[in-house]
Amino acid sequence: MNAHTLHPVALAGQFGAAAAHASHILTSAADQGRAIIDTNPPAEWLASQATAIRAAILNRTARCCPHIGAAPQLLHAAAWHPGLLVCLDCLPALDPVADDTTCDRCHCSASLLTGSVAAFCPVLLAYALCDDCILEPR
Ligand SMILES: [Zn+2]
Ligand SMILES: [Zn+2]
Repeated sequence: MNAHTLHPVALAGQFGAAAAHASHILTSAADQGRAIIDTNPPAEWLASQATAIRAAILNRTARCCPHIGAAPQLLHAAAWHPGLLVCLDCLPALDPVADDTTCDRCHCSASLLTGSVAAFCPVLLAYALCDDCILEPR
């Protein structure tokens, strides 16, 4: 075992800490009125987003900022930048294009989009949905 190999128990602890950090950021942002926790999130669509992110990490097709290493850490992703994962410091790289009015779920152009964030273990995924996708019964 070399110095760069983490003990599996240490790795599991770091993963748990990163996941706890992600969920803490989400709930504290909501407490401060900076985020809305979607009480009726589009579960199937979000599950497919989570699967795509996991696959991109495993296939090494994900584009990561230079600060993301092998150790589990809090990662940020946005549905409008598929395959891009960044650390907190590189969050501006996920900024949407200024005049982007495309709903991330139905890909229609909408006059109003509502942004939400979902936590998949250590990944925080931002997404923006049109009114139709938000009000749609799921
Ligand atoms: Zn970074
Ligand atoms: Zn939509």
